[in-house]
Amino acid sequence: KELTDINALADEYLRLAYHGLRAKDKSFNADSKTDFDPNLPKIEVIPQDIGRVLLNLINNAFQAVKEEGERRKEQGDMNYKPQVSIRTEVTAQSSLLIAITDNGPGIPSEIKDKIFQPFFTTKPTGQGTGLGLSLAYDIVKAHGGTLEVATVDDGKENRTVFTLVFPSNSNA
Ligand code: ADP
Ligand code: MG
Repeated sequence: KELTDINALADEYLRLAYHGLRAKDKSFNADSKTDFDPNLPKIEVIPQDIGRVLLNLINNAFQAVKEEGERRKEQGDMNYKPQVSIRTEVTAQSSLLIAITDNGPGIPSEIKDKIFQPFFTTKPTGQGTGLGLSLAYDIVKAHGGTLEVATVDDGKENRTVFTLVFPSNSNA
């Protein structure tokens, strides 16, 4: 366990994930935005574990916008801008909140309760193990936190938001 700066960790993994995808596909472009709460307290966690959770969520978000971008292009829609953002916040209950948002295809309601199950994937064979979210869920739970997904309509388009909440006295 280490006293960990979640903002720095999230920032690092956001860059890592984007560069990883760009290395495989130079034509891929996305806006990645961060909105970090400067007052976020450091928490006692295993940084590798929380890093893995963040990386899974961020990779899913980039894959989602990449897929949506390809779909829109096929339809001749040139106005789509792939966007992935991360926001952190200290909640009124002094918990740490981390929200990872994308403007990808969204998650159909009929699969929403399945995505956290091990081996559930909608990705082509070889591209997804279906283990990312179930692993993330287990790690977050072991830290006394919660992980939830929601669809939010920002007035222009639907966004998928994965929200992580850790108690500020979080223990690994
Ligand atoms: P994998 O990425 O290997 O498919 P995950 O456990 O990470 O496995 O995700 C399971 C499934 O949840 C994905 O295959 C996809 O259908 C859905 N999913 C996860 N994140 C997103 C997202 N940001 N937007 C849309 N669908 C998502
Ligand atoms: Mg995944």
